[in-house]
Amino acid sequence: MTGTPKTVDLPEEARQFLLGVYERAKARLEAVIERHGMRPGVSAAMAVERLAVLDEEMAPIFPALEQAGSHVDCARGCGVCCTLTIDVTPDEAFALIEHLERTQPAETVTAIKARALAADTRGHGMEPLARHRLKIACPVQDPATMECLGHAARPTPCQGYLSLDVKRCQAVHDGTGLDVPQPTAANMLTNVVSHTRSYAFEDAGAPRQSLELTAALVAAWADPDAERRWLAGETVLEQAASYQPPADGGR
Ligand code: SF4
Repeated sequence: MTGTPKTVDLPEEARQFLLGVYERAKARLEAVIERHGMRPGVSAAMAVERLAVLDEEMAPIFPALEQAGSHVDCARGCGVCCTLTIDVTPDEAFALIEHLERTQPAETVTAIKARALAADTRGHGMEPLARHRLKIACPVQDPATMECLGHAARPTPCQGYLSLDVKRCQAVHDGTGLDVPQPTAANMLTNVVSHTRSYAFEDAGAPRQSLELTAALVAAWADPDAERRWLAGETVLEQAASYQPPADGGR
């Protein structure tokens, strides 16, 4: 998600609009924690609400784009973007696992775990662009249909990633293109909802962490008590931490 302007550089009207989004999201996402408590399962409950909040906030973008002569080019089963490196928070990994285990047959879950292990072996800890060049598909993607098997509990970066030109996605995927045009408003709304959810968990005592999605799934499947410990304030799944560039810029 590149090229998203900073909030301070926006006109006052846009800043006020984003403040309204933040306040609506904060009320709804904090209410999930209040209702459920910081107990295992709150990540899944949060996923239902955060997906609904972002869907509702992004809904006006689609007709506005059509009116401006553009449109979101994403289509069911495209999945070209599912080789990008996705950074998630612990609750997003726990929610995705809960959803897969609840909705998919046992043999499908076993296959997803095997794909996750294989993908993590190939790409663990790599710099995102180098990892992307390996075209490592997300293990949650159905290899036959290219559909996301965890769509109803997908992480916020997946939900908010909208393309205005799927040919440019394919070019990036093939290594012949550099960027994908995206609706700026979608990126800004995604950031607001994502950060608001992180603050809600942090305020309730769960440490803020950024994890690479595939590694997080592998680590969380290997540590069934991780959600409880994270909610109790412990840093978890540390082996899945998102890539950090070297302090000296790699020189
Ligand atoms: S979770 Fe779903 S949408 Fe996100 S990268 Fe994986 S398959 Fe794609």
